[in-house]
Amino acid sequence: MKSLVDNARSFTAHVAERAQEFHALEAGQSPEVLFIACSDSRVVPSLITGARPGELFELRTAGNIVPAYSGGRPSAETATIEYAVRVLGVRDVIVCGHSHCGAVNALVSGGDLSGLPAVRSWLEHAAGRPETTAPLSPDLAEAVQRHAVAQLERLYEHPCVAERVEAGTLTVHAWYYEVHTGAVRAYQSAASSFRPL
Ligand SMILES: [Zn+2]
Repeated sequence: MKSLVDNARSFTAHVAERAQEFHALEAGQSPEVLFIACSDSRVVPSLITGARPGELFELRTAGNIVPAYSGGRPSAETATIEYAVRVLGVRDVIVCGHSHCGAVNALVSGGDLSGLPAVRSWLEHAAGRPETTAPLSPDLAEAVQRHAVAQLERLYEHPCVAERVEAGTLTVHAWYYEVHTGAVRAYQSAASSFRPL
């Protein structure tokens, strides 16, 4: 914790050195991308993409799960997606799964979640079990990739997303990130597989 506090203190000095860039943020934000990633601490979207402040609108959920469209019921996830698509007008949505994902592991392995009722509820109600054809590998690559593609289907259930995709003004992507190598792969729908970016 201490190193984080120290960095937060020195960050102000860093911003002062780049005053022009940061002062421009007062005027508002116009990110082109909504980046949906797992809450896992090993996944750092700005580190992966090199995004500067104002360039990525982020939604972090356990397991980068996109829950079913909530309609009029309160949902932080649906609200975030709707705001990004309808107000900010993002051009792309990226759902980024990652290797060694604990949430996906729980989905496919069905581990004991009796002490984690909120986690169990989220996984049971928000995501189906990824179907895999091969034995699970330690990095869970196949399960995570199938899971990420399934979240794209959930995105299409959101009216704001469906409208813009149909109009050709929004594109959705599924990525797979390896936490131990930094490799990023993107889903190619024509090949039904993930390929290096
Ligand atoms: Zn994860």
